[in-house]
Amino acid sequence: MKIIRNIEEMKIISKEIKSKGMSLGMVPTMGFLHEGHKSLIKCAKENNDIVTVSIFVNPTQFGPDEDYESYPRDLEHDSKICQMEGVDYIFHPEPDEMYPDGYSTFVIPGEKMTNILCGITRPGHFRGVCTVLTKLFSIINPDNAYFGEKDIQQLAIVRKMVKDLNLGVNINGCPIIREEDGLAKSSRNTYLNEEERKAAIILRKSILKGKEFMDNGEKNVEKIRKVIVDSINSEPLAKIDYVEIIDFDTFDRIEKLSKNTLIAMAVYIGKTRLIDNLIY
Ligand code: AMP
Repeated sequence: MKIIRNIEEMKIISKEIKSKGMSLGMVPTMGFLHEGHKSLIKCAKENNDIVTVSIFVNPTQFGPDEDYESYPRDLEHDSKICQMEGVDYIFHPEPDEMYPDGYSTFVIPGEKMTNILCGITRPGHFRGVCTVLTKLFSIINPDNAYFGEKDIQQLAIVRKMVKDLNLGVNINGCPIIREEDGLAKSSRNTYLNEEERKAAIILRKSILKGKEFMDNGEKNVEKIRKVIVDSINSEPLAKIDYVEIIDFDTFDRIEKLSKNTLIAMAVYIGKTRLIDNLIY
């Protein structure tokens, strides 16, 4: 396994791989890898000849008051994981390699998909995500890229971007990997203290309460939403950022359950903002 920090070097390597007719899978990450990332890598390994993992804490997707500086980083640990998983290349550029002085071009996804859910609390976040992914796809030129359903709005926006811009990358969604008690694995879980970690299971618990309601035939979205909101509010350490139930195909808010309904939430546990979702 090789760690590549330079864009030109990464481009040459990717070109060589493609010229040999080998398939190239890519897993974009911000590092501090856990089982969630590993599952994407495993899927990439199963379906491609060569796998590149990008590890880049992308400054343009963090807001001014967000955790860019404090976001956990551990390249040594990440390298070990990648090596064990049989990754061929890690692409790990410095921020000024990706955004040199005078950098000024951005990819802005449509408002329909960003003026909702995480896009409201995190204005500019998906502009940063789309910009960095367009750059990474251009540098690595993968046949397949792998994304977690944990960041479901990101997955939907990236799919749309790749289609709209004819980027020619197959976007693959992979299921959410969870801790034993149901909390979705996340690099940000390391911010939680012991008490907060226990409280954090409320995200999954409340979604499952809503699901139970739906399984029993409830179709009224406001009623389902209320069950979920009440459940979250029963946890003193939790503060709701949003709980939304939308049509996942159109991103429209709905009153009655649709065929492809997305229940998505962001909840602060103490100062840590966690997300979870369910497609029903
Ligand atoms: P991040 O490093 O947090 O930017 O995540 C990189 C990729 O891993 C994204 O596509 C995430 O959706 C995915 N991912 C993160 N956590 C999980 C998880 N618990 N299960 C599945 N995929 C995940």
